[in-house]
Amino acid sequence: MTDLTRLTAAELADKIHTREVSSEEVTRAHLDRVAAVDDDVHAFLHVDADGALAAARAVDTTLDGGGAPVSPLAGVPLALKDVLTTRGLPTTCGSRTLENWLPPYDATVTRRLREAGVPVLGKTNMDEFAMGSSTENSAFGPTRNPWDRDRVPGGSGGGSSASLAAFEAPLAIGTDTGGSIRQPASVTGTVGVKPTYGGVSRYGLVAFSSSLDQAGPCARTVLDAALLHEVVGGHDPLDSTSVDTPVPPVVRAAREGAEGDLSGLTVGVVRELSGEGYQPGVLSSFEAAVDRLRSLGAEVVEVSCPHFTHGLSAYYLIAPSECSSNLARFDAMRYGLRVADDGEHGAEEVMSLSREAGFGAEVKRRIMLGTYALSSGYYDAYYGSAQKVRTLIARDFAAAYERVDVLVSPTTPTTAFRIGERVDDPMAMYLADLCTIPANLAGNAAMSVPSGLSDDDGLPVGLQIMAPALADDRLYRVGAAYETARGPVLDRIPELEGVASR
Ligand code: GLN
Repeated sequence: MTDLTRLTAAELADKIHTREVSSEEVTRAHLDRVAAVDDDVHAFLHVDADGALAAARAVDTTLDGGGAPVSPLAGVPLALKDVLTTRGLPTTCGSRTLENWLPPYDATVTRRLREAGVPVLGKTNMDEFAMGSSTENSAFGPTRNPWDRDRVPGGSGGGSSASLAAFEAPLAIGTDTGGSIRQPASVTGTVGVKPTYGGVSRYGLVAFSSSLDQAGPCARTVLDAALLHEVVGGHDPLDSTSVDTPVPPVVRAAREGAEGDLSGLTVGVVRELSGEGYQPGVLSSFEAAVDRLRSLGAEVVEVSCPHFTHGLSAYYLIAPSECSSNLARFDAMRYGLRVADDGEHGAEEVMSLSREAGFGAEVKRRIMLGTYALSSGYYDAYYGSAQKVRTLIARDFAAAYERVDVLVSPTTPTTAFRIGERVDDPMAMYLADLCTIPANLAGNAAMSVPSGLSDDDGLPVGLQIMAPALADDRLYRVGAAYETARGPVLDRIPELEGVASR
């Protein structure tokens, strides 16, 4: 019998909609898989078996009664990053401060998934408030990379990507402020897309850095990511930064791209995003990927984006500045953990002791950095300069896109690093997002698609594809063409020990 957890979302949707299998069977197969492997992987913070099965049965009932599927993904289960609110289901953002919070409302992304008949299996682990590149900053323990459980699955959305690589879910949602969808996708051999800023609603996405945060699809194939993108994307009046244009035709682009012809397309290789400091196996995989794009008919040129080298510095001023303001709401009064509420401490003391107890070290570091960068006397030197760099980076992109249709680079300079290796070295951790940050700063669209396995350690490498704002469909065309030419990567993942044969 086919192992349902090994199929793509598109294949599962087809089988469910033709009644070859029920959504309940598919959902159960994934819940069983979670039960078998997640003690080890720890991709999930909460599993909602009852809710997922009820949603699955509702889809089955409609289809059994002769009704049409409510969406192309109706009945296909999904794992949701724990930063998007879910009514009645915990939303912790990986933080002690929200440990016992039950949101009274659904994020727009959550609501759209429910309306599309997508059973939500549970909430996935993440770095606290999405600050990190390894998922080690979660207050609830790290997620392990299914390729090698001594290594990190990337971050902040390591739980979402690990759930895909461990075959616990065929689809997941992540959020990407500086790389948190793409970098985990890269190091787990999966696909992750940061849509154009404003392309997917941020309503109900607990804010880290509002001018950068963007939710998007995670999947094992480019087509699956496109199907999910169309379900969650599109204008939302509840998000004032939501763009009021139709979702770009990403499913069509993925299907066309899969035919494998990129003639007429110009690809720019960003000179500043490779070279010194990059792992040799990452660079050789990237070079092979560029050759492959050329052999698919694309014209490849080198482009220079000189200000990208300042992207990391600008990001680590802008994101902490916005976070220091956004996280002020966790004050033990409006939101968040409250300690020392014993009548002996004043309000200010309760706030300060609660924030001390509720936030982890990285979150505190960011709040302090941001508060400093915004303080009068330093504002122009830090926050102001960072905003200028942001504009220069956007101009670099605009100039490049006059010459090329898409830009490419490695997604991240190294393959998955070891758990513990960078926790005491924030700079080394931040460097994981060197290549992904520019697209966030400019609000553009970008994808990571598995490039192959590194020839120095056998671990997955990601190819980053970037496109102008609102041209997300280009990512899918190029990504699908590349994926078809390259062949699957994830089927070379070692079997998780202690798991019955699949
Ligand atoms: N790793 C980056 C950071 O720590 C990006 C995080 C994200 O995209 N949420 O801020």
